[in-house]
Amino acid sequence: MPPIIDTPCPQLVPGDPGYDDARRVWNGEIDRKPAVIAQVTGPADVTACLAHARAHGLDVTVRGGGHNLGGAAVADGAVLIDLSGLRTVHVDPDTRTARVAGGATNADLDAATQAHGLAVPAGTYSDTGIGGLTLGGGFGWLTAKHGLAVDNLISAEVVLADGRVVRASADSHPDLFWALRGGGGNFGVVTEFEFRLHPVGPLVDVGLFFWELERGAEALRFVRDLVPTLGNTGLMIVGMTAPPAPFVPEEHHGKLGYSLILAGFDGTEAHAALARRVRDTLPPLFELVTPLPYTELQKMLDGIGFRGNYAYEKSVYVEDFSDGLIDVLVANLPAKASPMSATPIALLGGAYTDTPDHSTAFGGIRRTGFVVGLTAICPVPELLPADRAWVRSHWEQLLPYASNTGGYVNFMSDYEQDRVKVTYGPLKYERLARIKAAYDPDNVFHHNGNIKPR
Ligand SMILES: Cc1cc2nc3c(=O)[nH]c(=O)nc-3n(C[C@H](O)[C@H](O)[C@H](O)COP(=O)(O)OP(=O)(O)OC[C@H]3O[C@@H](n4cnc5c(N)ncnc54)[C@H](O)[C@@H]3O)c2cc1C
Repeated sequence: MPPIIDTPCPQLVPGDPGYDDARRVWNGEIDRKPAVIAQVTGPADVTACLAHARAHGLDVTVRGGGHNLGGAAVADGAVLIDLSGLRTVHVDPDTRTARVAGGATNADLDAATQAHGLAVPAGTYSDTGIGGLTLGGGFGWLTAKHGLAVDNLISAEVVLADGRVVRASADSHPDLFWALRGGGGNFGVVTEFEFRLHPVGPLVDVGLFFWELERGAEALRFVRDLVPTLGNTGLMIVGMTAPPAPFVPEEHHGKLGYSLILAGFDGTEAHAALARRVRDTLPPLFELVTPLPYTELQKMLDGIGFRGNYAYEKSVYVEDFSDGLIDVLVANLPAKASPMSATPIALLGGAYTDTPDHSTAFGGIRRTGFVVGLTAICPVPELLPADRAWVRSHWEQLLPYASNTGGYVNFMSDYEQDRVKVTYGPLKYERLARIKAAYDPDNVFHHNGNIKPR
């Protein structure tokens, strides 16, 4: 069949072998049928896709890793610009930089950079796309030591809505470069990210400590006291059901509780001292303290959910664990229906606070705090309505304790316009809207946390 779009890259239309696989995203609930899926091989293909969509009045979506739980990467009847074939990562160990293709995943990035003992902060799940993750901010285990993914971005190659290809950096299109660092996929298709890298590993230290629900409030209060002393250590505390994993004693499988995960980058002795402090203050039900290759740490949470699970998510930012907030978290955890649904709470601290708030478009305040994720993950679709309702009700009860009720733009399943505005705040939103008007006045890129052109 001749190509639909005037460019030689593979193109799939309904009925083609591979079409159904190519339109699937992480969230199994999303079932949309694009008019054509263009498996682009570089910026020229992207330009051709945009011209085709413009000429035929079609919607455009862009797919990186396909992790957005609202399915922003795919729309009925649209031209889907599929970046999943663009996954090359070039590392220059001398300059400690990496050029990362727009469809690469966390796993692609980590494998290439760790081959040189280097890394950049990115997500905590190996399958997530670097594209969507970075454009929304991108936190990971290294955030306390080296900031967000966007704090380490040097430049980006972008195909703009009118088809032009530009490189955005501090010196070239600085307004676009500012907007790309947190403003999401609103401003163009990024075909290449250039990151600054840092020496990491290859071995790092991990500590996982689990307390049953009855001691959940104590665990959260303990974390509150621990945070100011943590330095570079990455921290996440997850309200969850203990999985049937090899390191979980069989008698605790299926128990509801809180898992504290600490990722240490400052040597085994410092990490061991931290682990002792946890044990001495609040002995856990079970624990796993071990050195681990950094690439394995980056896969440690892969078992929390799987591509094709039925999912929904909301979040808020909080600055501290007040007693009221802790009560709401602990009271709501038992109401979830799916054993995989969870409340992952990630610390944003340390080096995260070194970047001035106004210097990137990231929609979170650069003070020490947490992003509280409320995540429904269901192995069967029948459980999703109950856990979607659980997420919404839990979220509403958390609002009084939030420092930003919009939450993390990358943890939105519904892009409600008022929430997107709240996430960025009026000043950043206004600046983003002006930049949007300059680079995408017709709002071609609107399947995202949309910034309306001003
Ligand atoms: C299991 C799981 C774990 C996660 N863990 C983390 C985590 O640890 N840290 C964190 O910060 N976030 C995390 N996230 C959230 C994640 O950052 C977002 O879902 C993000 O949108 C994923 O990007 P993607 O490219 O995979 O998604 P997609 O669904 O492909 O894209 C999301 C949005 O970004 C746009 N986009 C993607 N790539 C490009 C590009 N190259 N150029 C222009 N626009 C693009 C798309 O058009 C879409 O609007 C997680 C999500 C899941 C499901």
